[in-house]
Amino acid sequence: MGNINTVDVEAVVKQVLESMMDRGMTAGTSAASGAQGPIPKTARVAMLTALEKYEVKEFPIPEVGDGDILVKVEGCGICGTDAHEFKKDPFGLIPVALGHEGTGEIVKMGKNVKTDSAGKPLKLGDKVVTCMIFKDNPDITMFDLNKQNVGGADVYGLLPDDDIHLNGWFSDYILIREGSTVFNVSDLDLKSRILIEPCAVLIHAVERAKSTGILRFNSRVVVQGCGPIGLICIAVLRTMGIENIVAVDGEQKRLDFAKEMGAGKSVSFKEHKGIEALTKAVEGAFGGYPADFAFQCTGAPAAHSNIYKFIRNGGGLCELGFFINNGDATINPHLDICSKELTIVGSWVYTLRDYATTFDFLKRAKGIGLPMDKLITHEFPLEQINEAHVTNLKMEGLKIAIINQ
Ligand SMILES: [Zn+2]
Repeated sequence: MGNINTVDVEAVVKQVLESMMDRGMTAGTSAASGAQGPIPKTARVAMLTALEKYEVKEFPIPEVGDGDILVKVEGCGICGTDAHEFKKDPFGLIPVALGHEGTGEIVKMGKNVKTDSAGKPLKLGDKVVTCMIFKDNPDITMFDLNKQNVGGADVYGLLPDDDIHLNGWFSDYILIREGSTVFNVSDLDLKSRILIEPCAVLIHAVERAKSTGILRFNSRVVVQGCGPIGLICIAVLRTMGIENIVAVDGEQKRLDFAKEMGAGKSVSFKEHKGIEALTKAVEGAFGGYPADFAFQCTGAPAAHSNIYKFIRNGGGLCELGFFINNGDATINPHLDICSKELTIVGSWVYTLRDYATTFDFLKRAKGIGLPMDKLITHEFPLEQINEAHVTNLKMEGLKIAIINQ
């Protein structure tokens, strides 16, 4: 900052005082205050205004309509989608209020709001999440959305900017508009609530896997890739009673965590050069047998090529690692699929229906002592959202979250 003369100081002081006044009690909203105290006049919203640049802006908190819900945001996870937006803006949304893995407390709601999307009663002080999938059809998937080009998916945190701006969970207040998909998750703690969205991805994948009829409680299951997706995959399998799980990754720290999450054995691909040696190691971890079923949770084409070798004849594969197009993978259709009579399912994101299952999964995971909380490795305040994204891009941690104090 350059020289500050007296006039500038006066102007700054005036501005600070004004903004303090702005954030005071809104006139005539006496019924609006929840446990968190009065509702300020303005909300702070982290807007991605340019590539790799968020600015925390203040916008007026608008009138809450009869069907709307005003939520004081407690926290929001950073998703791979946010990382793509931050780096490349592939959806062309800048300026945009991001953050879709968020949760918070209802501080004001319109008189017509009585229940959440599942029919559970809603009241001031309840903790809620929104779901990113099309509200009118609980079974619709991202696949359908892409195929039919259905509009109005109501993804808070991926909406085009409008004159309200309170559209993303990287903020201190978000306005949930009438007709949105919202769930009362007051019975889950903050970290569990932040993990709902990524966990729903795995609930969906395991549902897809079960549709093959091959995945059973006593199956030998290999999970390849121990980032957040692979680790949560292991947790979901454990809550289903599947115990014979082998985790494959190149990072020892992640493999150790996979064991905490319930993998019985782990195999580092860095210690076994070549696919034959790696296959032997995976089979060795199962006592000399190939896997009945495999989950491919990395975004690496080579990992997709490799995973077929780990699976027995008549086995199954769920490929869920490629949220985005990372290129082609080479396989041998005769050896890898036909002669094995393999059953393969792909999985992408989730349906609204998977959300309800996810809430119970999180309770079961805690109940059997899985360290789900440890998936959130870094926490940042809203003001440090740029640093949080840079940390996320470095891939040093697992889940990075913005936590409001
Ligand atoms: Zn996400």
